[in-house]
Amino acid sequence: MDWTWEELLYRFQTYFIIDLIRYVVAASLGYLIIWKLCGKLLQHRYIQKKKPSLKQHWMEIRYSISSIAIYGIVAVGIFLGIRSDLFHIVNFEEYGWGFFFLSLSLLIVWHDFYFYWTHKWMHHPKIYRHVHKVHHRSMSPSPWTAYSFHPIEAFVQAAFIPMFLFVMPIHGIGLLVFMIYQISRNVIGHLGHELFHNAFITSKWLNWITTTTHHDQHHHYFNHNYGLYFTWWDKWMRTEHPRYKEEFMEVKARKKQPETGNEKAVLAKS
Ligand SMILES: [Zn+2]
Ligand SMILES: [Zn+2]
Repeated sequence: MDWTWEELLYRFQTYFIIDLIRYVVAASLGYLIIWKLCGKLLQHRYIQKKKPSLKQHWMEIRYSISSIAIYGIVAVGIFLGIRSDLFHIVNFEEYGWGFFFLSLSLLIVWHDFYFYWTHKWMHHPKIYRHVHKVHHRSMSPSPWTAYSFHPIEAFVQAAFIPMFLFVMPIHGIGLLVFMIYQISRNVIGHLGHELFHNAFITSKWLNWITTTTHHDQHHHYFNHNYGLYFTWWDKWMRTEHPRYKEEFMEVKARKKQPETGNEKAVLAKS
């Protein structure tokens, strides 16, 4: 045994704090900039009709912290896997830039595949009511929804990394880039406001990338758009919402509401 419980506890605390910072920075940036600072300016880009309550935000933050604790446990497992030579973190002397981009791209494509199928599985009524229902308590999502999962779902969501590492090594920096990409796309998916350019719907060069409307519709309508980063799996499995494109375009076509006389008077008084 080449580890001690003290060392594992120290590792857990370190991974927990790093991941907590990752979540808080990404979600609060999305929330403060898009929802608060630019809230009025982007009101017409808000996808759904009703914004979530403060109570919902706190519920999401509590579940997200519990998910981060689960991710910390999985990260300790990865650490032990690396130490016992089961997983390999490589450096640029052994594996160059070609492998860096290849392994990073494969990890993203693998995560997208893994997420689609485990997500669809969690929508099975027997699994859903015990596990995935927590994430769907947020009918209108916000950046805080990013990690709002039942502990079992948090474990399932994290398990794709050790599975990948079992098959393929990766650069430490590659894993770091992936973790930043992952939380950014997650927060963007739960942003509630559609900020993507129309080309992400109309151009064949970009329409394979999911927009905010894509995942927002999943929260709103429940049984469409299970995908994560790419639209492929929903297209291939015919689970894309029939009004995905229309709803995106409808949100984007809305005009910014001019301030009414009353609003101006209220603003002037306050
Ligand atoms: Zn779902
Ligand atoms: Zn979601």
